[in-house]
Amino acid sequence: VTADYDAIVCGAGPAGSLAALVLARAGARVLMLDRARFPRHKLCGDTMNPGALAILRRHALEQVAGDGLPVDGMIVTGAAGLRVEGRYAPGVQGRALERRELDARLVCAAVAAGARFDDRVLVQAVEVDESGRARGLVVKPRDGEARRLRARILIGADGSHSRIARQLGLARHPPSPRRWAIGAYFQGVAGLTSCGEMHVRRDRYIGVAPLPGGLTNVCVVTSDRALLRDQPRLLAASLRDAQLADRFAGARMVMGPVCMGPLAVECASPGIDGLLLAGDAAGFIDPMTGDGLRLALRSAELAAAEALRAIEHGAGDGASRLAAERQAEFAAKWRFNRALRALVSSPTAVRLADRGLAMAPFVVRTLVRYAGDVRAA
Ligand SMILES: Cc1cc2nc3c(=O)[nH]c(=O)nc-3n(C[C@H](O)[C@H](O)[C@H](O)COP(=O)(O)OP(=O)(O)OC[C@H]3O[C@@H](n4cnc5c(N)ncnc54)[C@H](O)[C@@H]3O)c2cc1C
Repeated sequence: VTADYDAIVCGAGPAGSLAALVLARAGARVLMLDRARFPRHKLCGDTMNPGALAILRRHALEQVAGDGLPVDGMIVTGAAGLRVEGRYAPGVQGRALERRELDARLVCAAVAAGARFDDRVLVQAVEVDESGRARGLVVKPRDGEARRLRARILIGADGSHSRIARQLGLARHPPSPRRWAIGAYFQGVAGLTSCGEMHVRRDRYIGVAPLPGGLTNVCVVTSDRALLRDQPRLLAASLRDAQLADRFAGARMVMGPVCMGPLAVECASPGIDGLLLAGDAAGFIDPMTGDGLRLALRSAELAAAEALRAIEHGAGDGASRLAAERQAEFAAKWRFNRALRALVSSPTAVRLADRGLAMAPFVVRTLVRYAGDVRAA
């Protein structure tokens, strides 16, 4: 059976768009699908760390974040009054801009590179033949009939709730830790700087990021399910925090709250014969480190390189090679991210860290630089 495309990329977030762009620039016939109508909102802290920007630069895509607000580092606070400002490094910055904008621009870049993009198309299922190789997809356009599409290689970049990874038994939300994020946008927040903010408290943390146009992104992450029943209340209570209340006194919520979770995704393997996973579909640890976009973009580069090999030489063992490459590149960062997640999940550890870090602020500064992938910038 002839393939309709060399590659079909499922999901047009940053991972999907970058994979589609790399493949299209290499001359592949690429189709990218997304169930959402673009541009679409995505719950996120809206900051790209220096390492993520470096990947964009490598593909001459820096203009997609060019009008984002420069981010010089992170301010970390604790309940007992800890406040440490960690700057990335002289001349090294991240950028903050709404994902709605960023993702739409990356889609445009993929289309300009030659990829075809169809939004409002739900990927319903992957078709796997008797040898265990993924051959195609069943897709359902919003206003049309379900149909089959075939490609020489498929890329699943359909995010942390990936239907593809779930159907193939490749990924799952682990029973623990289970955490949820509530996000909203505000206007009129006082006391913002050129740094993002992470306010770590006993049963939650609160990320605050200034965005262009006077907008401020606020994300609250908690594992307390009882708190989620009334999200506006959880958000309001979080912003009554001693270190935030004055700054939000004159602020107005202009969008939200939106809830997402469970957040963590564990992935057993980043693909099967004929299909490779990229971005959050292949695993996600926690938003706290603010490096999800860098990991998603880098994993898209790795998946696209394997996909090109599959297009040229046949699918074969691309998934196991991709697993080895991901392990070599990401294992240290995954360990770091898990360690930080474990720390903020324990009220006792948060309390002790609050005291300890007040005496050793350089530790926070080092953590901010590592989380920001400054070495990769
Ligand atoms: C609360 C929160 C805050 C965060 N803050 C930051 C931050 O400040 N900085 C940072 O770097 N990272 C942050 N992250 C992580 C970051 O958002 C993700 O790592 C990033 O979005 C991953 O990109 P992706 O392309 O893999 O997936 P996504 O951006 O989720 O894109 C997946 C796409 O797939 C589409 N899709 C899903 N299912 C289907 C289907 N069945 N058929 C067709 N299309 C489908 C979706 O519509 C979506 O467009 C945060 C995450 C959370 C939850």
